[in-house]
Amino acid sequence: MPQISFEFFPPQTSRGRANLVRTAKVLARFRPAFYSVTYGAGGSTRERTFAAVGALRDSGVNAIPHLSWGGDEEDAVVALLGDYLKLGIDRIVALRGDLPSGAGTSRQLRHADSLVRLIRSRIDAPLNIEVAAYPEVHPDAATASADIDFLKGKIDAGANGCITQYFYNAEAYFHFRDRCAAAGIDVPIVPGIMPISNYDTLIRFSAKAGVDIPRWVQRRLDEVQGDNEALLAFGTDVVSTLCRRLLDGAAPGLHFYTLNKAPSTEAIAERIGL
Ligand code: FAD
Repeated sequence: MPQISFEFFPPQTSRGRANLVRTAKVLARFRPAFYSVTYGAGGSTRERTFAAVGALRDSGVNAIPHLSWGGDEEDAVVALLGDYLKLGIDRIVALRGDLPSGAGTSRQLRHADSLVRLIRSRIDAPLNIEVAAYPEVHPDAATASADIDFLKGKIDAGANGCITQYFYNAEAYFHFRDRCAAAGIDVPIVPGIMPISNYDTLIRFSAKAGVDIPRWVQRRLDEVQGDNEALLAFGTDVVSTLCRRLLDGAAPGLHFYTLNKAPSTEAIAERIGL
């Protein structure tokens, strides 16, 4: 059975949280191993991420947080982790994160490996740590090989698994997985899947994240961008075919970037028979 998970971002309001709980319930029929809630750049959603994880867990779903250093010192991060452990979490996604927009470039971000090391040295509880991986290479990486070496550093620091940035080229994932294996990375590498539901968001995110949109996909999206139904239908075809290829190629699971909406993720999950 592939491991399925769904990613959310933290809503602004309690009404938003109630909607998110409803979305989580709709997606529950695909039996996800967990739902993860992102952490805003610079720790900007510390309280909101915590509140969303709490509300989801109160409703009976296995929600877990993403975490980065943000601007925090060690003790503050450890205290936050302690609060999460009280909620019963057994997993976390540990990240470097990005600088908040408008923060300039003077501030240094602490890499994810240091957060993994902090968790392993200060937290005495069985916690599964996921880290991020980039089949199409992280935009800051000097080389593809250096990116894999740093990923190995995160695993050596104590991470148990990787979730990838989304991509639309299945070959990028398979090539990356083979290179990771050759580098001695022996943890599961779960592909991140971005359903296609909004043209502008997809183009913007992908440019920033260094994600390649294949020309044939881009050209068809250009054509259907004004027609929601056609865009969703095409997006579902493309992403379902990708998911099938990944699972047929022994990907250990799928992590869906839901953007807090069920329909496009459901359409794909149904199509591929999850
Ligand atoms: P790192 O692993 O630190 O890597 C960042 C860059 O530095 C890479 O180029 C890497 O090659 C290099 N590097 C790594 N380690 C070192 C080192 N020790 N020394 C020198 N260079 C190094 N962002 C958010 O703000 N909030 C979220 O909740 C969030 N969730 C995400 C979930 C997933 C599954 C993924 C794939 C991404 C997520 N992101 C999130 C985006 C992520 O924060 C950005 O991609 C960020 O730029 C890098 O984070 P990282 O943890 O991969 O960083």
